[in-house]
Amino acid sequence: MDCLFCKIIQGEIPSAKIYEDDFVYAFRDIDPKAPTHVLIVPKKHISSVNELEAEDTALLGKVYKAVQTIAAEEGIDKTGYRVVVNTLSDGGQTVAHLHFHLLGGRSLTWPPG
Ligand code: IMP
Repeated sequence: MDCLFCKIIQGEIPSAKIYEDDFVYAFRDIDPKAPTHVLIVPKKHISSVNELEAEDTALLGKVYKAVQTIAAEEGIDKTGYRVVVNTLSDGGQTVAHLHFHLLGGRSLTWPPG
């Protein structure tokens, strides 16, 4: 499958990995929008939120446990952070493999552009 994030997970394309377990892979965004900007990616190829199935509910829990772990390791768990899932074109999704942006380390504005 010609998927950038599948290739990163499989080690075919290098990444700044900061976390991995059996279900989740996380690495630093190549174009960070905050002092901490990590992409948390299910290893299973799911194109977007729209393709999530009932059987994926436990996987989403594992993603958010990884969010907790990484936020603590990054030292942003007490100050706060944002988890963003861009979806399709109006949502700003550019890579068609479900991923969760973990952003923190500065005061984030709202609403997004
Ligand atoms: P999206 O726009 O929500 O789909 O997020 C895709 C993210 O992947 C963007 O923030 C990009 O900067 C990031 N990105 C694209 N290619 C790479 C890469 O090779 N390594 C790390 N991050 C990447």
